[in-house]
Amino acid sequence: MAAKPVEYNATIIHKKLHTPTLGVFRVRPDEPIGGFIPGQYAILGLNHSEKGGVMRAYSIASPPCVHEDYYEFYVRYVNQPTSTNPLTHLLFEAEEGDRILMRKRIQGHFTVEKTMGLDDPRMRVLVASGTGLAPFTSMVFEWHHQLGHTRNSAIVHGASYPTDLGYREELEEVMNRGEQQRYLPTISRPKEVPGWDGLTGRVENHFAPESIGVLEERLGLGEGGFNPRNCTVMICGLQGTIANTLTSLLYRGFVPGDRKLRRVFGIPKDLEASLFFEQYDTTPIIDTKDEALVSELVERLRAAGVPAGEDAAAAR
Ligand SMILES: Cc1cc2nc3c(=O)[nH]c(=O)nc-3n(C[C@H](O)[C@H](O)[C@H](O)COP(=O)(O)OP(=O)(O)OC[C@H]3O[C@@H](n4cnc5c(N)ncnc54)[C@H](O)[C@@H]3O)c2cc1C
Repeated sequence: MAAKPVEYNATIIHKKLHTPTLGVFRVRPDEPIGGFIPGQYAILGLNHSEKGGVMRAYSIASPPCVHEDYYEFYVRYVNQPTSTNPLTHLLFEAEEGDRILMRKRIQGHFTVEKTMGLDDPRMRVLVASGTGLAPFTSMVFEWHHQLGHTRNSAIVHGASYPTDLGYREELEEVMNRGEQQRYLPTISRPKEVPGWDGLTGRVENHFAPESIGVLEERLGLGEGGFNPRNCTVMICGLQGTIANTLTSLLYRGFVPGDRKLRRVFGIPKDLEASLFFEQYDTTPIIDTKDEALVSELVERLRAAGVPAGEDAAAAR
């Protein structure tokens, strides 16, 4: 049976494909929807002629300063969807001028305001793979618009090839000033890209104990300086990127904000978080039933000086 169709209230005013499976879409609602905080997401919906309507969440990639004109989304076409009516398949077929639903309620807590707070003086390290970049472009373009600089922030963005590094030129322009190179792209297929002289490998690999020194050097933090006294971390993307970055950073004493992980790791309630994430898929970040894994991760935190709080075993 076909799903209930969604009611369109907006128009796709711009569509640009960086590659056949990676695109930027600008949506203009018929009636003003209003402002939002960088890092939040909207719900988009489309109708399939036979299967009916489908809605999915998408981070807003554009900064709030342009919301009266449009909202921009940075979307990956999912080759192996899990649903029978994948929204990305309809979206990539859509053309400029086609209609779409953009729900009026913009949502989400993955914002600087709702995590470490705007006044936090530490460097914000924004870690993304693929289209997980979207909330961070909204943030840094808004800061650049408001302040003329991108605050004390850095973006580490992973993709397979340079052509998959959406927003690269714009980010280089606003984040790389003189000697300060705060936009750090990394590509995982460098052998196929002669001449690439940036970081290589998956984004999460750069946070492993044996390789974090390179980031420390690039970000001017000094040896051992990538720690929660100097930095806060926001990660966005799929489970693998989040899990691998997070578990590596436990060695440095980064404390997740995620409530479930805090309970499982036995982190005291009043201990301030320094690492936050937004997940695009539904695979659990870590298997909390895997006692050996959890014990090892707790050990990393204790070794980094993070005290024990609640009874972790009881919380699992
Ligand atoms: C808060 C939030 C914000 C999101 N923002 C974005 C965004 O800005 N851009 C974006 O492309 N997606 C984003 N997503 C994912 C999006 O909501 C959909 O899950 C995705 O587009 C797939 O939808 P679908 O209907 O085509 O596929 P479905 O049939 O729902 O297939 C789901 C499959 O797609 C995979 N998948 C989901 N997202 C991605 C992705 N980005 N890259 C590769 N594989 C993926 C999942 O692992 C899962 O296996 C966000 C998800 C959440 C929860």
